[in-house]
Amino acid sequence: MRRFIVNKPLEEIPSRHFDVVVVGGGLSGLYAAVLMDAGLSVAVLVKSALEQCNSALAQGGIAAAIGENDNPDIHLSDTLRAAVGIADQDVVRLMVDSGPSEVARLASLGVKFDADEHGNWHTTSEGAHSRGRIIHCGGDATGRLIMNQMIHLVNEKPNIQVFEHHFLTDVLTDTKDTVAGVVAYHDSFVTFWAPTVVLATGGVGGIYQHTTNHKQTTGDGIAAAIRAGVRLENMEFVQFHPTALYGKEEGESFFLISEAVRGEGGVLRNKHGEAFMNYRHKKKDLAPRDVVAREIFREMAEAGQDHVYLDVTSLPGAYFAQRFPTIYSHCSKRGIQPERDLIPVLPVQHYFMGGIKTNPSGETSIPGLYACGETACTGVHGANRLASNSLLECIVFAAKTANAINNLPVQSANAIEISPVNYPEFSGDVNAMMAKIRELMQTHGGIVRSPQGLIHALDYMNEIIEMAENGALVTPSHIELLNMASVAREILVTALYRRESLGSHFLEDETSMINF
Ligand SMILES: Cc1cc2nc3c(=O)[nH]c(=O)nc-3n(C[C@H](O)[C@H](O)[C@H](O)COP(=O)(O)OP(=O)(O)OC[C@H]3O[C@@H](n4cnc5c(N)ncnc54)[C@H](O)[C@@H]3O)c2cc1C
Repeated sequence: MRRFIVNKPLEEIPSRHFDVVVVGGGLSGLYAAVLMDAGLSVAVLVKSALEQCNSALAQGGIAAAIGENDNPDIHLSDTLRAAVGIADQDVVRLMVDSGPSEVARLASLGVKFDADEHGNWHTTSEGAHSRGRIIHCGGDATGRLIMNQMIHLVNEKPNIQVFEHHFLTDVLTDTKDTVAGVVAYHDSFVTFWAPTVVLATGGVGGIYQHTTNHKQTTGDGIAAAIRAGVRLENMEFVQFHPTALYGKEEGESFFLISEAVRGEGGVLRNKHGEAFMNYRHKKKDLAPRDVVAREIFREMAEAGQDHVYLDVTSLPGAYFAQRFPTIYSHCSKRGIQPERDLIPVLPVQHYFMGGIKTNPSGETSIPGLYACGETACTGVHGANRLASNSLLECIVFAAKTANAINNLPVQSANAIEISPVNYPEFSGDVNAMMAKIRELMQTHGGIVRSPQGLIHALDYMNEIIEMAENGALVTPSHIELLNMASVAREILVTALYRRESLGSHFLEDETSMINF
């Protein structure tokens, strides 16, 4: 029998009814909600405040083939090449073909992309793109400015109600395994009944020690869907971004130095000042992310250092500060003057290519359950995401999800009975267990993997899951712990099944997998 986190008959807890519940208020969740018919009542649930999400942190921009020397065919082949052969070509085709019109729709909804005096959008390049096709806002404040506009639109729509600090705990499914709503925790449990649920809860960065993601990004939507029996895909593929700013405050995420900085001429150097990417890949500093992250990792290991350097000193005078104001100001606060100093950087977890398997309309294997954004695996990123394709994926497939939902017949959710189980109190130091999960995933589920390391980490995840599944989970951190271990277990297990190195899944010694 499946485990529900809520351990009470649902009629004993407060409840609300909606046509659609969207869990997650990042770009994918809000864009889907905004594009839903005004006649649908929509609840948007978020874990903390609406402004707190990875979408708001995006710097570089959105990839779309809008330039005169570009077209969707070239964008398609760049995406497939970066994905190392396992992206779903038909779905990538849909994404790149929809890109120009979907970014035009964003602009028509009030998003202001950086442009020249004639109104032509400025484009830049990033790793593994053969054309400059990244459009951006406020220099390097793309995510924040788009999200400000999305929040503004959501607040204007009377059919959408936002519930902040509502932590998703359960995806409710009825006896026919069809969605009936969700349960969330907000001081106590609340049921949101709805025949249609969209999971848009973002990635999994919070299960790694070093990440650019918000620490709240603990794969909760994926874990809740796992408990409901959903089908997953590509869970072994976790992207590390080559250049996070070295050093951070305890408990904080790493600050990203966008790949667009290398797109504008930034060069990676080792401790001897050598531009080492010049002799590691034909695209040099703009090689695919997985390649650059691994080469930095190798440089660091060989030099016994925990960082390398990004050199932007050759960029013209005030250009860097004007083109990347957020990065410039963050570096300055840390005492680094990019026009003069080398910027210390290291690779850290950044993006999740895997997730809940969906078709292009966002449908999952559970009737009534949809997913979009980083939580979903549409198949467009394969084993390695092409830079700035994530925001594109968010808008293209959130739009298709909204469209599919707008065309559904009128439905209502079926009731569900939950019989309480007498679980013993959960004991143990939750913070210490979370820290150990992060450390194990960093060391064994990260850039370079081995069967022994994967098994060692897996043993711990199984231990935590066993303990959590058989205990009363009464606080959000108990639930987060179970979610972290559940998602980590899927990553580790699928990594063990993938016996050859591919994209972001890299084995230190492929032959070591043979006898495993
Ligand atoms: C620093 C940084 C820079 C980036 N730069 C770029 C870029 O330039 N271009 C690009 O294409 N991509 C970039 N990315 C990746 C991209 O920003 C993300 O993949 C994308 O924004 C994810 O959007 P999302 O809607 O799926 O999730 P998010 O924006 O992460 O939003 C997730 C939402 O889910 C909610 N949520 C999570 N768990 C729960 C729960 N249990 N209950 C209720 N709600 C929950 C959160 O509160 C949040 O509202 C960047 C990522 C980072 C971290």
